[in-house]
Amino acid sequence: MVKVAKFGGSSVAGPEQFRKVKAIVEADHERRIVVISAAGKRNTSDHKLTDLLYLCHAHITYGVSCNDIADEIFTRLLEIRDGLGLSYDLEGEFNSFRDRLNRDMVVDELVSRGEYFTSKMMAEFLGFTFLDAADCIYFEYDGQIDSRKTYKAVAEAFDQYGSIVIPGFYGSLPSGKIKVMSRGGSDISGAIAAAAVSASVYENWTDVSGILMADPRIVDDPKPIPLVTYAELREMAFMGASVLHEESIFPVRERGIPLNIRNTNDPGHPGTLISDSVPADNGMDRFITGITGRKDYSVITILKRNMDINIDLKTVLEVLDRYHVPAEHITLGLDSFAVVCSDSAVGDRLYDIVKDVRASCGPDEVRIQDNVALVAAVGRKMSSRPGIAGKLFGALGKAGVNIKTIAQGSDELAITVGVDNSDYETAIRVLYDGFAG
Ligand code: ASP
Repeated sequence: MVKVAKFGGSSVAGPEQFRKVKAIVEADHERRIVVISAAGKRNTSDHKLTDLLYLCHAHITYGVSCNDIADEIFTRLLEIRDGLGLSYDLEGEFNSFRDRLNRDMVVDELVSRGEYFTSKMMAEFLGFTFLDAADCIYFEYDGQIDSRKTYKAVAEAFDQYGSIVIPGFYGSLPSGKIKVMSRGGSDISGAIAAAAVSASVYENWTDVSGILMADPRIVDDPKPIPLVTYAELREMAFMGASVLHEESIFPVRERGIPLNIRNTNDPGHPGTLISDSVPADNGMDRFITGITGRKDYSVITILKRNMDINIDLKTVLEVLDRYHVPAEHITLGLDSFAVVCSDSAVGDRLYDIVKDVRASCGPDEVRIQDNVALVAAVGRKMSSRPGIAGKLFGALGKAGVNIKTIAQGSDELAITVGVDNSDYETAIRVLYDGFAG
């Protein structure tokens, strides 16, 4: 059994954090593959190495010297190397990096060096073998991961060395050139490594004790979610909760590997465990898994006597498609239906869209409600309990929140209500207070 542990930037920000990582890795001998981000912020006014590296590139692009920033990066790395008494030849590697900076280093390689240097030191500190991501994470030319080649390379290196550190965030193209992922991409690297070796769990170590039940900017001290299914998480992410990126979940979800979000600064906390299914009666379940939402939607309601829903809905969706506006929710009546679209997708074209809808499906009336926020209560248990929607609406009504639309997916994983933007925070708090206990 092997566990893949990915540590984010804040977990490797300085020597003290490196020590915490080592204690975590050594506490469980199944943690044999470690994926590392570039050193992150040590405090709120600090900078992430990756940001400094992007800044170096911006300087070079505009012909301004980046020596001071390179010095700052070097000092950060030196603090780690010397703080831990490592023998890593940082000077040698950093000097050749500096030499190439202004000559032939392209941006992807440049910004990938945060992960590279940080991981080299972590490998020495843990006594693990350093496996360069350029030699095991392979992209196709179209930017997709070449899973077959990548999984084989990671699995073979693991078989050969037994315990490895892989830098996150980058890999190599068929030409051998380095390519980076999107920001925060080390999460993806970790998931790929976990899939490659069919890990028993993919641990994602960060600076929070898991995913919270609600946005802490709205709800005071929300509880973390102990157990959540991948399907619920997708609902939460879709509705705006800031959880892991879809791309970083896909490789592990596809292989049925559970993902555990843990806190490097509180390793005793079990964090959030995400898996395909959650055993019933696990003793940890709450009625609702999480409450999330987003502001700024418009609801377009089409009313037409003797409506043929198939034809009219299709026509309206075709109009939206022409404007590249996805319908986020659809609610159906007998002679009416409503589509909910996000304002950011609609932009300033709402009235053009309405004009086209009028022309193409000849409705009796088109109503627009703007400034709508969607609030979703997500929970796999909702489907098995009668009366939950009623309780939810009752709680909102009692708090004076007017509900403008209601949608529930047929999988009954989430109930979504549309409320006025100005009621958004109240609605989240009411649902949290009423159902999160
Ligand atoms: N270091 C990269 C970033 O800051 C990737 C990562 O941390 O996952 O985006």
